[in-house]
Amino acid sequence: MASSIKQIIFLGDGIGDRPVPALGGKTPLEHQATPALDLVASGGESGLMYPIRPGLPAGSDTAHMAILGYDPATTYTGRGPFEARGVGLEVRPGDLAFRCNFATMTDGLITDRRAGRIKSGTDELAAALNEAFAGGIDGVQVIVKESVEHRAAMVLRGEGLSMHITDADPHEAGIPPGEVTPTPGHEGDPEALRTSRIVNEFVERNQAILAAAPVNQERVAQGLGPANVLLPRGVGTGPHLAPFAEQWGLRGALIVEVDLVRGLGLYLGMDVVTVEGATGGSDTDEIALAKAAVAALADHDFILCNIKAPDLGGHDSLPDAKCAAIAKVDRAVGYLLDTLDWNHHVMMIGGDHCTPITSGDHTGDGVPVAFYGHGVRPDYVTSYGERPCATGSLGRILGADVMYLLGNYAGTVHKFGA
Ligand code: ZN
Ligand code: ZN
Repeated sequence: MASSIKQIIFLGDGIGDRPVPALGGKTPLEHQATPALDLVASGGESGLMYPIRPGLPAGSDTAHMAILGYDPATTYTGRGPFEARGVGLEVRPGDLAFRCNFATMTDGLITDRRAGRIKSGTDELAAALNEAFAGGIDGVQVIVKESVEHRAAMVLRGEGLSMHITDADPHEAGIPPGEVTPTPGHEGDPEALRTSRIVNEFVERNQAILAAAPVNQERVAQGLGPANVLLPRGVGTGPHLAPFAEQWGLRGALIVEVDLVRGLGLYLGMDVVTVEGATGGSDTDEIALAKAAVAALADHDFILCNIKAPDLGGHDSLPDAKCAAIAKVDRAVGYLLDTLDWNHHVMMIGGDHCTPITSGDHTGDGVPVAFYGHGVRPDYVTSYGERPCATGSLGRILGADVMYLLGNYAGTVHKFGA
């Protein structure tokens, strides 16, 4: 349905939190000065958003799917395909796609799952692996590509592969890589057994190849942990998703830093914008992201922008880093407030999920959100944060409600009934 009102979702990844003792019992959003976010809440309608359902911790991929109106319960096939697509790997029918971490191993144990958040050289490490595995494993082609920091993606291409296998990444330090096995219910499945063997062989063999790479020898010489193992996880095959334009009748663009979410956008047929200076890290250029969002609104009906940095502060349990990241989100939103004509735009600010400092991972808590702009009925909330938004007039909503609420304000949701 045509509308002159443009729709915006602006997210700080993992922005929601819990009270932090080191911040005097305040959450990072309550502690950090956020004049722009507070203006949005003051002039808008606030609430708590549960991306999938209350209490269910969502990944960035499933949370973004839900917020964009796709039910992860019926359409999600794993994180790997999005990660692989997002870094530019092709995922063909029958392929298995994984996301991977470059990690540090010492004496057979994982000592750092993120290899010190290695900043450079992973392109050379991926190239070394592709060269060493050029002959494949048991007739299966192996393709690795680096992503941001310690992240990478891998595609296995060949006959008779199964996605019903466990992760090689043990998801914690101090233990060896996980032995990949068929998942429960697939124990006797020959394809799952063979695929497990292939991934186990890949993990076993990639260690010596990575250890010998000049990048890692330099890291060791500098006293840094080497990225001496690549751990696949999150396996999946390409999902079947209706194009965003068909689902909502909107021309949409994504301005996001996370390859995973970029990959989702590519699957949805959205325009995925690359922004110079958007590093996906704590040094990202938030104004460049905001400017790209404004530019994309010129020829799109809908944009989603996500700044990754708050999630990193949460995962690393660093209150200062999370507060600094929130300040970046605030400056970016401030740019939008100053630049756009709010008679012709409607925006939701919020996050895709909570990544509390005290848990170091995603939780199923409600994410503070606020809607602002055309059509929005302001409530009495005057600042943006977990506790203020909990008192807002939207109450509790689900991720699946977001596109309807925005579309309602913009006039793009069809009437149900006569
Ligand atoms: Zn996220
Ligand atoms: Zn996260």
